[in-house]
Parts: sequence; structure tokens; C-alpha cells
Amino acid sequence: MGKLAVYICSGCGLGDSLNIEALQKISKKYKAAVVQTHAQLCSSEGVELIKCDVKDNGVDSIVIAACSPRVMYDVFDFSPAVVERVNLREQVVWSVAPNAELDDPKEDIQMMAEDYLKMGLVRLGKMKPATGYLPDLEMSKDILVVGGGVTGMTAALEASKAGYNVVLVEKEKKLGGFQKNVRKKATFPYKGIIDNDLPKLIQDVTSSGRITVYTGATVTSTTGGPCLFDVEIAEGGKTHAHKVGAIVEAPGWAPYDPEKLPEQFSYGKSDKVVTNVQFEERGLGRQKFDNVAFIQCAGSRDPEHLPYCSTVCCLASLKQAVELKETNPDANVFVVFKELRTPGQAEDFYRHAQEQGVIFIRSQAPNVRKTWGGSLVVEGVDDLLGEEVMIENLDLVVLATGMVPMTAFGEDVKAKPPEQPAAAKKDSDALPVPVDVIRASGILNLQYRQGPELPDFKYGFPDSHFVCFPYESRRTGIYPSGCVRRPMATAAAYEDAAGAAMKAIQAVEAISQGKAVHPRAGDLSFPEINLQRCTQCKRCTDECPFGALNEDEKGNPLTQPTRCRRCGVCMGACPERIISFQNYSVDMIGSMIKEIDIPEEDEEKPRVLIFACENDAYPALDMVGLKRQKYSAYVRIISLRCLGSLNLVWIADALSKGYDGVMLFGCRHGDDYQCHFIRGSELANIRMSKISETLTRLSLESERIRVEEISITDWERIPAIIAEFMQTIDDVGPNPFKDL
Ligand code: SF4
Ligand code: SF4
Repeated sequence: MGKLAVYICSGCGLGDSLNIEALQKISKKYKAAVVQTHAQLCSSEGVELIKCDVKDNGVDSIVIAACSPRVMYDVFDFSPAVVERVNLREQVVWSVAPNAELDDPKEDIQMMAEDYLKMGLVRLGKMKPATGYLPDLEMSKDILVVGGGVTGMTAALEASKAGYNVVLVEKEKKLGGFQKNVRKKATFPYKGIIDNDLPKLIQDVTSSGRITVYTGATVTSTTGGPCLFDVEIAEGGKTHAHKVGAIVEAPGWAPYDPEKLPEQFSYGKSDKVVTNVQFEERGLGRQKFDNVAFIQCAGSRDPEHLPYCSTVCCLASLKQAVELKETNPDANVFVVFKELRTPGQAEDFYRHAQEQGVIFIRSQAPNVRKTWGGSLVVEGVDDLLGEEVMIENLDLVVLATGMVPMTAFGEDVKAKPPEQPAAAKKDSDALPVPVDVIRASGILNLQYRQGPELPDFKYGFPDSHFVCFPYESRRTGIYPSGCVRRPMATAAAYEDAAGAAMKAIQAVEAISQGKAVHPRAGDLSFPEINLQRCTQCKRCTDECPFGALNEDEKGNPLTQPTRCRRCGVCMGACPERIISFQNYSVDMIGSMIKEIDIPEEDEEKPRVLIFACENDAYPALDMVGLKRQKYSAYVRIISLRCLGSLNLVWIADALSKGYDGVMLFGCRHGDDYQCHFIRGSELANIRMSKISETLTRLSLESERIRVEEISITDWERIPAIIAEFMQTIDDVGPNPFKDL
């Protein structure tokens, strides 16, 4: 650390509630060369004051004791100087309650502010300016698109229009994907059924000077990481090698296998029972039929088959029904449905089909039966009339089957964590690391320690299902798009492809500048591992939510910084505590924990440490202050990148120091998780299973530790959660280590 300066704001009520002079004295004790107080530090005058000190007085390490680091981050950016924000506003003067039982409630608020200032000062003292990761290797901003259907071609075209070179790989001999079988398409808002305009899209792609197209080709190997991906493509006996920066994965979908459909649909018993896909492939819209029935949700929204709605089958059936009416206006065309889903402007299309004479019948469990004469009958109960209904003499029945993402096919290759070497078991046994479902579907063939393809979320869809982050996958720089992300019609696929292309561009731009991508966008730090002390326990390589770490043959982790999202989960996992970031480390947080003064037992001022995930819990704590709700002045909050970065040694540090209790505030986990780093809060919970061992070793009660799931909207619950925990600590009594 070079020249340290501390700036204390006395605005926003800070000067009224706090003894600013005492804070200045503390700053001087920590050898701050400059200590300044300003009535509104965020004003242009306040900012100018700091800028001058950086420019003219050589200040390069700055503590700003003012508002939350979540606000004014652009105003208080003095890079390359390192800045530490001490949150005296939202998490001290706006949120702590004067304690009526104490003679001088201000004393507690002041102690809190002083502790936070000391924590900030010690943290800054351990920080090095982050430098970013720029390898001594050629970095590429080219984009690989896997899949030459509507989505893949659109993504390629969008990226090329933005000035990026694209390599497009299609496994079939011709571009077009499923849409090349489709003759007509509906327009939205509905104006009619028009010829499929796919040929124009193909023409645009093949004539672009920026897009290299391989057809009849597959990606046989993908090594490296974003901006450093080395890709091998097999095409007609030749192998093509490309270095690319990011990947859009758009291999599309396959129809649900009709052979697996329930008996009730009579598939395979008559060649007049076809699927919606076969209808297109066989060009049945151009043939003249007299009596046709469409059966919706054939196998869809059925827990035994496809539990989800494929969203497009209703529209496809409407289009096919209208096509049949156009070919033969006298045809009787029925659509038998459980629910008809025509969202948004597609409702017009439904009305148009009604006007054309298509007959809609709502029936939950229609049955298709072949008569002795060979014609087909559909039977069921009409939901609206409550009567049996029978549609006879059908010369065609079309089953609306759903979409299965191409990523759902292939062998499940990762069902349990790999065996750890016996030598490494010491601290890692009995920790069941959650395992992603990864299938060897042969789309990307990633040479990653954690498996060859993107992990699934559900039903084979690889979207990471980040609540806030569409398009993200669990592999940095790889963006699933189109029907592998969710079932969608072509109109949505165009937009989805443009979105994925944008994400790929963001990734190559950030990573080529040494920065992290979402959700710690712009972060320049990355994990460094002191390998001399590594025991090859494989915890980091197993637990990294993004598959960022490979392994050498001995089991040592090999960092791949361009794949890293900077979550710190590996740092939390490492029992040897040898993984750290330039500005975030086990030592840094441990030192913050130890820096505060713990009052003696007879002072009856308990101390509770809250580790709060910076993504949801920390902002929720800020919200408590913003809403002027109150919680105990006895808590001390430390924000973590993710609860998954919590190293168990910090709990031991806190309890040995004399904190009476420790709370962990993290995101919800489970299948519908909200954890920004996928598994961070889940891993923290699993690690907590080890904590009872630590507590027993220290002869402490398990009630002293609590994990709470806090989402950003949970701020209203926080005061009660803290109050209840304070009561528990009161009941359990003071930590016996307090006075040692
Ligand atoms: S666990 Fe997080 S910080 Fe560590 S390597 Fe993986 S992505 Fe990077
Ligand atoms: S770096 Fe740490 S967590 Fe990773 S294998 Fe080595 S000892 Fe284990």
C-alpha cells in the first residue's frame, strides 16, 4: 500500500449521529497520510478534493467512510487508486436502533461505526490493485455458432453485422435446420400465411464475407476458454482448426419420439395418424383432405412424457389447419385441445382460424381409434358441453408433439463426483458436493474437467436459469440460444439469437480486456493458487460452479482465468486456504473479523457477525436502512462475493475472537435457486455441516451459528430475523472465549 487517505462524509445524517473526530483519530492511528471530512463527499466539490489528492499528493489507497458501496460507485471511482467503501450510512446511522437500556445509546452506534472503519482500513491494507488477466497468447474475438437453423444463422448474421468474424457449423448437409421442411409460416400480427422466407436468411449468411460456413460438420473438440478457445471441426474427412472467443450453442430441437406416446393416440396403428413434424416433412398442407383432426398436447404437459409446454404446437396446428382450409375450403378441420395457447398477437390468428371454419373442441383426454373400415375416430368428452363427442370418418389425425432440446440426448456422463485420491481425504470426506447433470451429447466436446457439454438445468435444457440473467450458461463465454434454451417459435428465435450474439460480443470484449463477465462484470481480479501447498484434494475443481478449473495428471488445479466468474467459491472450498484474489482473500476477511474490539462479558454487549452475500443479502440489509427500519447495533456485517466463498476458518476465527454468534445470509438454493453463482449458497450450507465439528472442538453451542436465505425482497424480514437471533444468543449466554 502506498499513500493512504481517509475521507469521512458528515452529510446524510452521519455528522449528527457520529463522533467524526473519533473516526478521524482512528484513521490517523492506521497511518493515514490524509484525513478529511466533508459535508457532502459525493458533491462535485467533495469528489474534486479526492481527485486532487490522487493527482497532486500521490494518494493511491482511499477509504471513503460514507454511504453504501452499492451507490455512487461511479462517483467514487478513482482508479487506478484502490478504494474501500465503509458503509456508515445505510448500515449504521440509518439502520441501528438506540438501545433504551443503555445510558448512552450513541455509544453503541459509534462503536459500530468505528469497527466498520477499522475493518475497512485493514481490508484496504491487504489489497493490491487488481491487474486483470491478459495472457501472453493470441486472443480471438471470433464467434463460433454451432447450429445452422434459424437461430444459429440469425446469431451468426447479427454478430457479423456488428463486425465480428463468425464460424458457423451445421451438422446436416444444408443450412436451415427444421425450418427447411416448412413451406408456409404465419405472420404476427396476423396478416396471413406467407411463404417461408428461410431462403433469404440462408442467402444472407452464405454471402456474408465475415461468416465461414461448414456443413455436414461437427465440433470434435473445444479446449481453452473464452477468447482462447481452440476448436476442431470435422467436415467431410477434413479437420479445420479455429481459435474463437465465444460460442453460441444453437443445435435446435428434435420432436418428441411419437413411438413413446400413450396408446390413446394410436400412433403407429394407422399411417393416417401423423405428427405435426411429419405433416410438414410430407407437405400434407398441399394435399386435399376432407376430415382432419388435430390433437394438441400429444405427450406434452404430461409428467410421464414431456412435462413442459413446448409453446409452439398450438400455433403450428393453427397454421396447418388454416393451410388445409386454404387447400380445401370444404374440409372439416377440428382442433381438439386441453388449453389452446395463443399468447399476445397470436390471438388474432386463432380468431382467423375460427373465421375460416376451423372447429375447436376442448377435451382433456381425447382418444384416437381406428375403425374396422380403416377410417379414424376421435372420441372424448367436450369440456364445455359436458357431453361425449365423436369425430368420425377422419382421413387424417395430426398429433401435436412437443420439442426436445438436442442437448437432452446422449449419455449421462457425470452423475457422481470423481474419486478423490486417498491422500487428499483428510478434510474433504463427508462433504457431498452437488453434481451437475452433464450429457455427452457431442455438440461442443469440451475438454473440461467437469464434463464435455453444458450442464442441464431441467429436462435437458442447459440454460443456467439465472433468475436475473437470461442466456447465461454454467460455462463462461458459451451461450445457449433458441430451442435448446427453451421451446420457442421462430419469431422468438430471431430475438433469442440476437440476444445470444450480444452476450457473446460482451464476453469477448470484456475478456479481451482482462475483465470478468457477468455477474461480476468488469472485475479485474482472478484466483491465484499457491500450488506448493496443494494437497490435490480436488475440492476446488469439483466445486467451481463454472467448470473453470482443469487438473494436471497429479490432480493439481489448473486455473483458466478467462473462464472464471470471480465468485470465490474455490477460495471457500480450499481446506488449505491457498486460493486468493488480489483484492479478496482468506487472510483479508480473517483480519477484518479480528480487527474489531469485542466488549468484555460484564459489559453485556454481545457481538454477532453477519456474513452477507453481496448479491441479494447485502442490498437487502441496505434496504432496511433506506426504509429506516432498525436492527441491533451489536451486529457487524461483512459482505462476501457469494456465500460459497465463505471459508470455514472464518467461523473459527470469529468464535475464537469472542463473537457470540455468526449468521450467514445467502441466496435461496435448490432447484428454483436464486444464487447468482449457481451453487454458492448450497455449498455454504453443505460446509456448515462441518461446523458442528468445529463447535464441539471449541465446546460451543450449535445455536451460535445460523444460515438464513435472504432474497433482495426480504428486507422487511431482516429486523425480526436479527432480533430473534439476538434473543437466542441472550438465552445461550456469552461466548466463553470472550475474555480469553
Ligand atoms: S470457483 Fe469461482 S472464482 Fe474459483 S475458479 Fe471457479 S469461477 Fe473462478
Ligand atoms: S487448491 Fe486447495 S481445494 Fe484445490 S486441490 Fe489444492 S488444496 Fe484442494
